[in-house]
Amino acid sequence: EMDTQGWQVLDRAHYLHPFTDHASLRQGGARVAVRGEGIYVWDTEGTRIIDGLSGLGNVNIGYGRRELVEAAASQMLELSYCQSFFKTTHRSAVMLAEKLTSMLPDSLNHVFFQSSGSEANETAIRLVRHYWDLAGRPQKRMIIGRELAYHGSTHMAASLSGIPPMHSAGGDIPMPSVTHIKTAYQYRNGFGMDPAEFGVLAASWLEDKILELGPDNVAAFIAEPAQSAGGALCPPETYWPEIQRICRKYDVLLILDEVVMGFGRTGHWFGHRRYGIEPDILQLGKAITSGYLPLSATVISDRIADLLIDKGGEWAHGYTYSGHPTCCAVALENIRILDEEKLVENAGATLAPYFKAKLDSFIDHPLIGDVRSVGLMGGLEIVQDKATREAFPYEAHIGDYCAAEGLKRGLAFRANGDTMSLMPPLVTTIEQFDTIFDIAREALDATAKEFGVTA
Ligand code: PMP
Repeated sequence: EMDTQGWQVLDRAHYLHPFTDHASLRQGGARVAVRGEGIYVWDTEGTRIIDGLSGLGNVNIGYGRRELVEAAASQMLELSYCQSFFKTTHRSAVMLAEKLTSMLPDSLNHVFFQSSGSEANETAIRLVRHYWDLAGRPQKRMIIGRELAYHGSTHMAASLSGIPPMHSAGGDIPMPSVTHIKTAYQYRNGFGMDPAEFGVLAASWLEDKILELGPDNVAAFIAEPAQSAGGALCPPETYWPEIQRICRKYDVLLILDEVVMGFGRTGHWFGHRRYGIEPDILQLGKAITSGYLPLSATVISDRIADLLIDKGGEWAHGYTYSGHPTCCAVALENIRILDEEKLVENAGATLAPYFKAKLDSFIDHPLIGDVRSVGLMGGLEIVQDKATREAFPYEAHIGDYCAAEGLKRGLAFRANGDTMSLMPPLVTTIEQFDTIFDIAREALDATAKEFGVTA
């Protein structure tokens, strides 16, 4: 049993947290979570917190599902590890690959497993470059990503990410073979335009970049279908069909990062389905096991895989935990539950419209300049001046202040820049949504008061 000692232990421990200001952590300590059930997590103080972020786009079926624990336990007893390097595989990996490809477009039939989204993106970039080498076009090397995007923290994945604090002054990140375009962020990049026109304009930024670099030098474009990073940046309907057309026109491979969007976040099973497109490489992670175990899947089109298999020889790429039996078994059980309980269908048909209506009502709040959502991902953008869209100074950290006010009241949501992001689990009930939005409003009211903003 852990008790409040947990706070002191962490205060002294040699333990670095992801994306954390460690000086502030040393002063305040970290909350110690001890238990989770459904959409709730409890800490050592007995405080109950609503996980309004599903971990971070992971825990779609909620915490504490015994079926997943049992699937893990029986897989571990049956076969705890499988060394996949020496032409050996096992049932759970094969079944999961079959299950995934049966759910995806006809052209996507090959799956490579690893443990994280970052690793998946490493795999994808090595793969596309290998592909272009094999295709006799080794000069196709440049990768285009988008500003404000997040694709992971390894060197290449951090390079793909368009978040300035991740880019090191030494010039190593982003790597010189990666560049970024503006994202489909209408509030900042196309305010007041007709959304359909803005979608076409935002897609044209990709074409401009391809032409600037020369189509013969561009290997791939990588993006999230709707960008969770940067604050729920949801594209207009015209954006993705245009992007697909441009990628095909210039023979630029399309890598869709659905590490967050996959398995129901958009109210559809997958984001590419929601937006009606077909990627060459599809990245799945996080919600593939509802966050119970680390697993990601890189799903590869026939076009790429056929060349790799026919001409590639040995592909020197793989991880110790590629296709780990326990992770695959848990993913299969997670997908079975999503299926059986119709959680994705329910999220799309019933929860998402309610979620959107609740979110949209915040446009009246004196702090909120823009409201965005798709499925069960939403963002409320805080501004200093609603008329000019002027943001608060960065140093004010107003989003972090608001998130702290939410946490005090029992809701975990987060500031993505100045946008308050919500990604509740797919098992959230209508009543629980009411509580979530009541707390979010109280947190915003408290923030407005602190920053001297009145209606
Ligand atoms: N892609 C996206 C869109 C993500 O949100 C994340 C993680 N937040 C990653 C990739 C990286 O995944 P991981 O943390 O598992 O490496």
